Amino acid sequence: MFLLILFTVFKTELNMEEPSRNIIETIFQKATTNPSEKPRKIQRVIRVKNSSEILERFENHRIIVKKEACEQYESHPRIIVDGNELLLFYGTIMTCCSDDPGLVISKLCEEPSCGVCRAIQSNFGTKYTKNGIPLSTSSDALSETMHMIGNLKGKNVKMATIVCRTIAGRVATMVDGENEQEHAIIRRGGRRSELEYLIVKDPNAILPCFVILFT
Ligand SMILES: [Zn+2]
Repeated sequence: MFLLILFTVFKTELNMEEPSRNIIETIFQKATTNPSEKPRKIQRVIRVKNSSEILERFENHRIIVKKEACEQYESHPRIIVDGNELLLFYGTIMTCCSDDPGLVISKLCEEPSCGVCRAIQSNFGTKYTKNGIPLSTSSDALSETMHMIGNLKGKNVKMATIVCRTIAGRVATMVDGENEQEHAIIRRGGRRSELEYLIVKDPNAILPCFVILFT
């Protein structure tokens, strides 16, 4: 786990002029749960640089999922083509980001309360992901419980979402019941019934790509 600190580091912030920043902002805004509400204001977009080891682990997972699908005569064509890759969001908070846009974010912090750095550093192995990693199709959904925000008064807490490439593989709903062979389970989101989460079993199926800080 410790080695991941060396292998995964934040690379660079995408400034306003970069075309990829526009693309990421559009993806984020289109994926809000309630588009009729005032759009969320994006403060910063940070690209996550993944090491070659992490990229390799992600691609190896894809190969395993595709191979399983072929062997089991899977009827879902996307699984055979690319492992059923989806772009999903992991909603959390970030506490190590300065309000000063001139300050570069270049590495993971060590604050226990910083959800972004802890999720990336641990390869989504935090207390919130013990029973699978809850990713959402909605960019403003929270994957972690936010009770802790009350304990963070005085800290610079920012709402954040980690944009993740995800090899969803074979997906089941809660109604279908859990099955060893499913790679992910769909769960509806509690009080906000319009929210949908995909509970991904294997962290190797997830590649964090960008962190978006928003208000
Ligand atoms: Zn941090």
